[in-house]
Amino acid sequence: MECDVAPVDPQELTVPVSSQFGGQALEVLLTQEQIQQRVAELAEEISHRYQGKCPIFIGVLNGSFIFMADLVRKLDIDFEVDFIKISSYGSETASTGTVRLLKDISANITDREVIIVEDIVDTGLTVKFLRNRMLEAGPTSVAFVTLLLKNEIAILDFSIDYVGFNIPDRFVVGYGLDVDQKLRGLGSLYAFKES
Ligand code: 5GP
Repeated sequence: MECDVAPVDPQELTVPVSSQFGGQALEVLLTQEQIQQRVAELAEEISHRYQGKCPIFIGVLNGSFIFMADLVRKLDIDFEVDFIKISSYGSETASTGTVRLLKDISANITDREVIIVEDIVDTGLTVKFLRNRMLEAGPTSVAFVTLLLKNEIAILDFSIDYVGFNIPDRFVVGYGLDVDQKLRGLGSLYAFKES
């Protein structure tokens, strides 16, 4: 008989050798069960807040695609989706301090309730850039949901409306987040093991 339980990610694994970080050890920071439970809670809060409305969820590519897919499938309101692509760390594991727009949204967001979906907020540069850009189009409101919040953010003069988890200042991969474009498919979230 087939087992219908989702396979559990290993507690530890190593980065593939094709990456410049190849061979380095990773450990689980958040299990897929913890992530799925929190995503359901976020979906419930958002559904409650936007009851009777039809917000447009804007996913920030590439890292948020899995979180966004899980989140919207747990909503019980009408919604639309669109995507925007911003330059991220490239092959680095630290912010370069500049944000570039690589792909814009297609939808008209004037007079719309906008919810921007981020995988992780670190320095806050990306969300600051996105908020200013969205406000130029005259939306009814702009809210942010992020699965992960890494730092105490000093540079933000607005709050992140929905936060999945506060995590320590460590480079993380899995559940949509990459290292050298790899390991996005892991259900759990991993951090580089500290030696
Ligand atoms: P911020 O502009 O807030 O410094 O960085 C946001 C973006 O940097 C995220 O959307 C993500 O692409 C990338 N990022 C920040 N921290 C991490 C991390 O720990 N792991 C990965 N894979 N990407 C990160």
